[in-house]
Amino acid sequence: MEFDRKTTPYRKPEERINDWEELNLKMPEDDLQQQGARCMDCGIPFCQTGADWDGKSLGCPIYNLIPEWNDLVYRGKWKEALHRLHKTNNFPEFTGRVCPAPCESSCVLGITDPPVATKSIEQAITDKGFEEGWVVPDPPDHRTGKTVGVVGSGPAGLAAAAQLNKAGHKVTVYERADRIGGLLTYGIPNMKLDKSIVQRRVDLMKAEGVEFVVNTEIGFDIPATELKGKFDALILAGGATRPRNLDIEGRDLDGIHFAMDFLHTDTKSLLDSNHEDGKFISAKDKHVIVIGGGDTGTDCVSTSMRHNCKSLTQFEILPKPPEERSRDNPWPEWANIYKLDYGQEEARKKFGDDPRRYEVMTKKFVGDGKGNVKELHTVQIKWEAGNNGRMAPVEVEGSEKVWKADLVLLAMGFLGPENPVLDQLQVERDARSNAKAEHGKYDTNVEGVFAAGDMRRGQSLIVWAINEGRGAARECDRWLMGSTELP
Ligand SMILES: Cc1cc2nc3c(=O)[nH]c(=O)nc-3n(C[C@H](O)[C@H](O)[C@H](O)COP(=O)(O)OP(=O)(O)OC[C@H]3O[C@@H](n4cnc5c(N)ncnc54)[C@H](O)[C@@H]3O)c2cc1C
Ligand code: SF4
Repeated sequence: MEFDRKTTPYRKPEERINDWEELNLKMPEDDLQQQGARCMDCGIPFCQTGADWDGKSLGCPIYNLIPEWNDLVYRGKWKEALHRLHKTNNFPEFTGRVCPAPCESSCVLGITDPPVATKSIEQAITDKGFEEGWVVPDPPDHRTGKTVGVVGSGPAGLAAAAQLNKAGHKVTVYERADRIGGLLTYGIPNMKLDKSIVQRRVDLMKAEGVEFVVNTEIGFDIPATELKGKFDALILAGGATRPRNLDIEGRDLDGIHFAMDFLHTDTKSLLDSNHEDGKFISAKDKHVIVIGGGDTGTDCVSTSMRHNCKSLTQFEILPKPPEERSRDNPWPEWANIYKLDYGQEEARKKFGDDPRRYEVMTKKFVGDGKGNVKELHTVQIKWEAGNNGRMAPVEVEGSEKVWKADLVLLAMGFLGPENPVLDQLQVERDARSNAKAEHGKYDTNVEGVFAAGDMRRGQSLIVWAINEGRGAARECDRWLMGSTELP
């Protein structure tokens, strides 16, 4: 009742688009303690439930003990808060920066007021822990003699490796890229999550005894069946990396790229040479069109802004979300409301408007006669219920529009995991082509092979990948040892 909501401030958009440093500024300790004080210690803290509600999940998927650490921060007991935070989350330095915070959508205070700034508090606890030197390698005090191979080093693979190592197993993580981290490294841009923060965690895990092998693609460099023979158990955490294409006229023109080719090469070039090697797709002085309005699209927007693009437009096929919760999206569900994310905020500052255009469908790409994309042709659509009751897009007559474009980035989601590893091991798939394994159990049809993260659930969130990596580690440990003490 006394304090308003305050969150971690961002650097000014006009300043931050000139560099690749993190957006976040430090939040003053007094403000953080006040946010801790806003937490009401309510009877049922929905923020931490991670519960399933009519097929939708509520609150924090890893059951972070939010009211406990909010209170500890309020009382200035930071080290104890860090201890509570690490009980449920292996990587709060990642989630404190990039989690969309479903916990805040389920905060009880959020029924009447803006919710507690839980994500900001989470980041502050973990950052203070590193600053104070409280986060140190914690290797297991005994080894079981069992070995586990993990395919993929994203948050799911890393969480599984950290937990299995804690249980005393010898863990080796294989990654096909040249750096560890999955989409933490080669997906989310540096300004949202500085790559030194990912490397710091990888170094800690190495010091705890986890082995990392990079530049090695399982299924090509090492057959998956050979890997299975090498370890007592395998965890498959290769992500869901097959991008959705837009197979329309002109798709083969130069200048049309999948978002991940743009984002991956950009970060690699930044880390390798501060962009001096020129081995990235540049948006400099280009009219950029991003097709897709999700997180990936936003990261393409912010990256293009830093390249100094000439203009920027982002198409979204869905309608603009409402400013406030609609009647069919009540608390404590995830609030599906309009938000100006960091990339759009930057584009608005420079070009005067939120770059998103809603309910736009691209009909064709047109070239300049030399093989390069020159323009996009679109129509406006509206969503109407069809005969089967399902909503479908209907084109609005006379709404055709032509847009100038030298660079088009396709950020329309992902279709599921790539095939070789699953095929070679003969792992069954579910209806959406993901590795088939029950959530909570994670075991596939192949004895001793577990699947976790986006490879099992489809493209999702870091926090869900951590949930699944931890769960798969628990079930793998149970399978190896007959019982488990992992949470
Ligand atoms: C651009 C982008 C931005 C995002 N932003 C956010 C965000 O802000 N917040 C959020 O919560 N979520 C975000 N997400 C989603 C989130 O990153 C993913 O849900 C999460 O990383 C999934 O983790 P994972 O470990 O299952 O897979 P991934 O992170 O995809 O990691 C899988 C790893 O496995 C490797 N691999 C695959 N096959 C093999 C093989 N055969 N051999 C060896 N290695 C292999 C891949 O190279 C990759 O490194 C974003 C996603 C994208 C694409
Ligand atoms: S991990 Fe995400 S949902 Fe959980 S407390 Fe942190 S910000 Fe909230």
